[in-house]
Amino acid sequence: MRATVMYGAKDVRVETVPDARLVESTDAVVVVTRACICGSDLWPYNAMPRSEAGNRMGHEFIGIVDAVGSDVRTLKKGDLVVAPFAWSDGTCEFCRNGLQTSCLHGGWWGGTELDGGQGEAVRVPQADGTLVVLPVGPDHALMASLLTLSDVMGTGHHAALAARVAPGKIVAVVGDGAVGLCGVIAARRLGAERIIMLGRHAARIALARDFGATDVVSERGDAAIARVRELTGGLGAHSVLECVGLGEAMLTAVSVTRPGGAVGRVGVPQENAIPNAKPTFYDNITIAGGPAPVRAYIEQLLPDVLDGRIEPGRVFDRVTNIDGVPDGYRAMNQRESIKVMIEF
Ligand SMILES: [Zn+2]
Repeated sequence: MRATVMYGAKDVRVETVPDARLVESTDAVVVVTRACICGSDLWPYNAMPRSEAGNRMGHEFIGIVDAVGSDVRTLKKGDLVVAPFAWSDGTCEFCRNGLQTSCLHGGWWGGTELDGGQGEAVRVPQADGTLVVLPVGPDHALMASLLTLSDVMGTGHHAALAARVAPGKIVAVVGDGAVGLCGVIAARRLGAERIIMLGRHAARIALARDFGATDVVSERGDAAIARVRELTGGLGAHSVLECVGLGEAMLTAVSVTRPGGAVGRVGVPQENAIPNAKPTFYDNITIAGGPAPVRAYIEQLLPDVLDGRIEPGRVFDRVTNIDGVPDGYRAMNQRESIKVMIEF
């Protein structure tokens, strides 16, 4: 089968690899029908040290179950399934509490040992706990929005929950990538009164407004902080979604949060310190978040997607086949594209 392998920064190749197959009795093999490239794939795309073995890539996919191990109970050949960006058993202490990203028997797609989503098929460990059967056919019109349940929509939702978005709250979203845009959808869905999007790119701002952003702040750094304060009567936002991961974005996020407010961080931190420790202490600012347990959110968000109440699939602005994956990385890295979908 063919799959995407990254050998180092800016070196993404589509190659023939060993076919996905059952190894454990709890595995399934899924033939991928849709996958995508993630903003988080751009961190290694820009910084991965050269590797002889290469890393298999992709952690967002929908596909059709092709085979199941003898201990798989909830899935059968032919089911259309969506996979969350981490796999999990669904039964351990953390899974039962809705934190599947900390599953005691779980893990992450790709790397040197496992298949990734940006390939023709995937061996899925802990298939019963990991996969969710979709009640539609593989070419359903909502496929793009359903695919976002594997990561970006669930991650935006997690940021909003961690930032304690609720009816009547003023929300600020730092980051105009696919996750930030889904954060706007999530904030509106949870009843936010105002949603301030911090971003500059015209197409992303337009989409943010369609998704429910009421204000846009296109300044950067100190000017952005001053503008959000001005828009909030000098007080700052109740809930701030940090959807980037860079230190500067986190500094902006904590600086626009009002006393007693909360920052929900879902951008993978690229630095080990959280800025402004003292001011955030004296202002009683909560800093929460982490990798989203999207497996817990798929069933919660699925009805809204199927009913068309939310349309997170609009973050995809480019579609390619597997041969176009390397160029898809390039396009997303150069911000030509918000998010690239791969059709198989
Ligand atoms: Zn678990």
